[in-house]
Amino acid sequence: MLNTLIKELKFSELPYAYDALEPYIDAKTMELHYTKHHRGYYDKLMAAIKGTDLEDQKFGDILGRISKVPAAVRNNGGGFINHDLFWNTMGKNIGSEPSNKPGGEIAKAIDAEFGSFEKFKQEFSNAAATRFGSGWAWLIVAADGNLKVSSTPNQDNPLMDVAETQGTPILGLDVWEHAYYLKYQNRRPDYIENWFNVVNWDEVTKNFKNVKR
Ligand code: MN
Repeated sequence: MLNTLIKELKFSELPYAYDALEPYIDAKTMELHYTKHHRGYYDKLMAAIKGTDLEDQKFGDILGRISKVPAAVRNNGGGFINHDLFWNTMGKNIGSEPSNKPGGEIAKAIDAEFGSFEKFKQEFSNAAATRFGSGWAWLIVAADGNLKVSSTPNQDNPLMDVAETQGTPILGLDVWEHAYYLKYQNRRPDYIENWFNVVNWDEVTKNFKNVKR
């Protein structure tokens, strides 16, 4: 996705049905989130780059100087790539849900960096719960190759020059109210806890290996 010219970016299909993440994320929220919010970011990104010299650039190439492009490109482009990662790192009946945990290489890296999966989960959940207003919590691979937990406001992404903590995201959690309000109302911590049941650790592992390569 980041290696595709912006004007050639496709609005890809959701890799599962709207109700696939029930009961943790409800079908109505998924449908609205994907068809309205995600679609909106895509359409507005395309409108923002149309007729400009950004059309023939890759989104991956402008992330590092996102502070110098129009805000509509930062906000909608970020929205589009953030959600793309979000959809692809969730899935139905993943692992041994409801005790869904990573295995293999990513599990080893998490244990090495955070001490244990439970400690990672705590740090990540805390980043997600304490993000004021709208934004994202991330598991990123920092420049030194180590895993880190971070958080960004709005639709910013850890690859952007504006991000407080830089790195390549391999897992992201949307904590905008539109991601959980219908089912959880103001109970963001419950949403975060339940979301861990639908994380697709196989995809996170693939992302991890792609960064390390
Ligand atoms: Mn969202």
